[in-house]
Amino acid sequence: MTDAHCHVIRGESRCFIASPTHDEPRGCDAVFYGRHPWDFLDGGVFSGEDAEKLEKLLEDNPSAGVGEIGLDRLKTKTVPDAMRDAFRTQLALAARHSRNAVVHGAKCWGETVKECIPFAGAIPAFLFHGFSRSGGLVPDIVAINGYISVGPAILNDHATNYRELVKSLPVERILVESDATAENADDTPSVEDTAVRLASLLGMPPDVLERRLEANADAFLGAR
Ligand SMILES: [Zn+2]
Repeated sequence: MTDAHCHVIRGESRCFIASPTHDEPRGCDAVFYGRHPWDFLDGGVFSGEDAEKLEKLLEDNPSAGVGEIGLDRLKTKTVPDAMRDAFRTQLALAARHSRNAVVHGAKCWGETVKECIPFAGAIPAFLFHGFSRSGGLVPDIVAINGYISVGPAILNDHATNYRELVKSLPVERILVESDATAENADDTPSVEDTAVRLASLLGMPPDVLERRLEANADAFLGAR
């Protein structure tokens, strides 16, 4: 089973690590380098030095992608200019090096997807992690070769709207994620638990869904 978005390695058969805390994470199958939108809440900027550093990481790691990057309105009412600039600059770097991007868009998915559209094609595939907006954006996401990773929120009995959204997603674009970090790794459900719940929501046998999810993960990685 592939954990399509996490920040620490927890022993899944495959994991895609974003913004690793160690420069060279060992034992993960795909690594994404980038600055998270929360780095740009309090006057932080994505400097020329940051761009050089990211570019060097991409050159030194030919299979690496760019992420976790994006926009966020969980912690502010409007997206700060520095956050938007950092997102655009990192998208442009991903495009220049033809790398996949892992994208965060909490509470501003419309704006986030819109920023990605000009980079369609140049960025081979996008992973929209923790996507929780209504299904209206899904056609745009599919059109730019976007994938959507479903998280442990589907296990929450109160997440009725989220489960309805998940049911409406095209199954060939779904991945599963834990978004586990060093701080919450012990309390975060496994991707296996998320996948079992997802299978029952989609009305699919768990083993059939698991094969589908692995094929989707291969397709996402193989897009570049
Ligand atoms: Zn994350």
